[in-house]
Amino acid sequence: TYVVTDACIRCKYMDCVEVCPVDCFYEGDNMLVINPNECIDCGVCEPECPAEAILPDTENGLEKWLELNATYSAEWPNI
Ligand code: SF4
Repeated sequence: TYVVTDACIRCKYMDCVEVCPVDCFYEGDNMLVINPNECIDCGVCEPECPAEAILPDTENGLEKWLELNATYSAEWPNI
């Protein structure tokens, strides 16, 4: 899965949302998150993000962000 990280906070540029084929972005007040159960790992959102906030969870040190994306995508509205 891909995860949204802290570079998204107060950015929310939204181009990632437009390209996601499975609509798995969710929106909070300050940032977006990806639902890891819905993401199909296609990777098309990553280059669309001007803040480089979207990363594959295979990168080191993203455990906290994966957990946060999972938690908040269950609570926030789908966009
Ligand atoms: Fe959507 Fe693909 Fe990005 Fe996953 S990797 S959030 S499926 S665009």
